[in-house]
Amino acid sequence: MSKKTIAVLTSGGDAPGMNAAIRAVVRTGISFGMRVLGVHRGYNGLLNKDVQEMDLRSVSDIIHHGGTMLFTARSPEFNTPEGVKKAADHCRELGIDGVVVIGGDGSFRGARDLTGAGIPCIGVPGTIDNDIASSEYTIGFDTAMNTAVEMVDRLRDTTESHDRCSVVEVMGRRCGDLALQTGIAVGATSILVPEVPFDFQRDIIERMRFTQKTGKKHFIIVVAEGVGGVADLAKEIEKQTGIETRATVLGHVQRGGSPSLRDRVAGSAMGYYATKLLKDGKSNRVVVMQGGKITDFDITEALNMKRTFDKDLYDIAHVVSI
Ligand code: ADP
Repeated sequence: MSKKTIAVLTSGGDAPGMNAAIRAVVRTGISFGMRVLGVHRGYNGLLNKDVQEMDLRSVSDIIHHGGTMLFTARSPEFNTPEGVKKAADHCRELGIDGVVVIGGDGSFRGARDLTGAGIPCIGVPGTIDNDIASSEYTIGFDTAMNTAVEMVDRLRDTTESHDRCSVVEVMGRRCGDLALQTGIAVGATSILVPEVPFDFQRDIIERMRFTQKTGKKHFIIVVAEGVGGVADLAKEIEKQTGIETRATVLGHVQRGGSPSLRDRVAGSAMGYYATKLLKDGKSNRVVVMQGGKITDFDITEALNMKRTFDKDLYDIAHVVSI
C-alpha cells in the first residue's frame, strides 16, 4: 500500500503561531509514516499546484517567527463551485488524501466544501481575532493581545505627559475580545466593542468627567475595529471635554511579531491533533479548545455555533477602570 499523503495550508489572515501548527502537522505526519506536502498561499496553491515536499528539516527555525512560512491568501477563485472542483481534482492528481487547513471561519467553509468534493479536510483555528464560535481560543490571539498592550503602553506615556486623551482602535471586526482584554490590561476609561451597543455620553463623556473630578488627567479609550470611527470619536470628545484628543489605529502591527509561548504551544498541540484525526480516517472536523482542552467538532456544526461574548468581564472592566 502506498504511503498516505497529507497536505497543510494556511488561509485568510495570518496569525502568529501558524508556523508552530505547520511544524506540528509536518512532524506528526512524518512520525505516522505519512508523506506531507506544504501548500503555498492558501487554496491558491491547490488551484495552481504550488506545493512543496516537506521533511523534518523544512520546518526547522520557524517556531519563533510570526506570519506563515507557507504564505497565505484569500482566493476568490476557490470560493466558487468550479474552483472547489478544480482544487479537489488537483489534490487527486497530486495524490493528496487529506488536508489540514489553518485559518478562520472563511477557510473552514472552504474546507467543508473541499471535503464535500471528496478530499477529507480538518480545520485548525488560526486568527488573531479569537472570533471562532466553536473554540474558546484561536492561535495568534495571545500574541496580538500582548502586542496591542505594548503599543498602548507606549501611547500612554505620551498621552500622560500631555494630559491628553487617546482613542485607540485595535483589531476585531466582529469580535471585541481583543479590545476587551487590551482595554482591561491598559486601564482604558472606556472600551467599545461590537457586541455591546454604547451611548457616547454615558459610556465615554460621563466616565471621563467622573474620573477627571477624582483627579485623572489622561484617558485611554479602546475601540474595536468593528465599532470604528476613531477619528470622529476623537474630534467629538475634544469638542465636548476640551481635552486634547488623538486617534490612533494600531492596524497590522498587531498581526506580526514572534509568537508568544501560548501560541507556540496551542499551534503545536492543535497541529498534532489535526494530523491524528486524518490518520484516524476522520474528515470535515475542526480542532477546537473547550474548557482548556483540545477536542473536535463537525465543521458544519461548528460554523453554525453562536459566539458568546464575556459580558461579565466587560462589566468588571467598567468597575475597575475608572
Ligand atoms: P478567514 O479564514 O481568516 O476567515 P476569509 O474569510 O478571507 O478568511 O477566507 C479565506 C478563504 O477561504 C477565502 O479567500 C476563500 O478562498 C475561502 N472561502 C471563504 N468562504 C468560503 C465559502 N463560503 N466557500 C468556499 N470557500 C470559502
